[in-house]
Amino acid sequence: MTPQQPLSYVHPSPNSPWGTYLMQVDRVVPYLGHLARWVETLKRPKRALIVDVPIELDNGSVAHFEGYRVQHNLSRGPGKGGVRFHPDVTLEEVMALSAWMSVKNAAVNLPYGGAKGGIRVDPKLLSIKELERMTRRYTSEIGIIIGPQQDIPAPDVNTNPQIMAWMMDTYSMNTGTTATGVVTGKPIHLGGSLGRVKATGRGVFVTGREAARRINLELEGARVAVQGFGNVGAAAAELFGQAGSRIVAAQDHTGTIHNELGFDMADLIAHVKATGGVGGFKGGDAIDGESFWDLPCDILIPAALEGQITAERARRLKARLVLEGANGPTVPSADDILAERGILVMPDVICNAGGVTVSYFEWVQDFSSFFWTEDEINLRLDKIMIGALRKIWDTADRHQITLRTATFAVACERILTAREERGLYP
Ligand code: GLU
Repeated sequence: MTPQQPLSYVHPSPNSPWGTYLMQVDRVVPYLGHLARWVETLKRPKRALIVDVPIELDNGSVAHFEGYRVQHNLSRGPGKGGVRFHPDVTLEEVMALSAWMSVKNAAVNLPYGGAKGGIRVDPKLLSIKELERMTRRYTSEIGIIIGPQQDIPAPDVNTNPQIMAWMMDTYSMNTGTTATGVVTGKPIHLGGSLGRVKATGRGVFVTGREAARRINLELEGARVAVQGFGNVGAAAAELFGQAGSRIVAAQDHTGTIHNELGFDMADLIAHVKATGGVGGFKGGDAIDGESFWDLPCDILIPAALEGQITAERARRLKARLVLEGANGPTVPSADDILAERGILVMPDVICNAGGVTVSYFEWVQDFSSFFWTEDEINLRLDKIMIGALRKIWDTADRHQITLRTATFAVACERILTAREERGLYP
């Protein structure tokens, strides 16, 4: 008999982000050896903060938003992970996202734990001044647990360098410092790093290039379909375009477009910049959203939100290679179907690690006050991604497991070794 009470988040629904994460952890247990003793550590966040974010709207009324910052694991270093502003944000979602950050940071061997934050809000409905007030109040509220050596936020869905600048300024004002290292993904003039904005997309491309080589898929002429045309999807698509691939389909909240011959990427990027989405692009046909999942393609890049590749969609996919630009886009039952069908999945926890890797470079540059060239950054990023991929692939081959379970095995071994070496306090 154990003296503890059952926790409310121990049995979530299987396809929810936290339920997905817990199943991914269960799958890695047989490969953890003696470290399996510590696995419960991974199944609960170290610390979760819920904050009320009240702001005055431009019309003089007061609105309250719910915000979160979750530090999943801090065994290997300070917390690290983005902040998202989205109407679907919940505590449980942020818990899962923070846990995936622990795994991701360990998979590429960055000296960080995992954390994530968010506010349940549709930022598109706020004016720029309201957005600034909300960001500043949220930063003040989570100020008790963030800091350059404690927990370092960064951009995620619907957050950007301007929002990071407000966060850096608010934290600095509250602490009487110029704390550039408290957030990453900042504007260049405030200690931001060259290459950060496109780093996640670049990491997706590098992962795709290495994976394509392994399955003898020629990038030249390969058909690529991208879901989500934000910071990650657009940057990855651009690099695949430069490598000679055809971007044949794109989907976001404004619509779904298709062109068997491939889009003109410069035109598409200009359209998205001008209108805020891919919908209405004249260089392709508008198609029904659900048929996106039936389109013939070689590479599929889910780069939007969680839970997009369900079991039902996994049976219909035509791609040979799935590159998870988003966090948590594939539910576990879909993972099994893709594996059975011989479709190679490059999991989020390595595939989209380029962003946080360049965040790490930014943080290091801020501390040393010495800034690197973009070429240096891209070279170092490529080297880290390729080294991490090699180790994960060896692990997958050795145990005959999927790359997701192999990435979890590599990462969880690092996290739990640190856990064991530090020991329990007190
Ligand atoms: N939000 C990004 C991610 O999910 C980047 C996090 C960071 O740079 O800290 O990996």
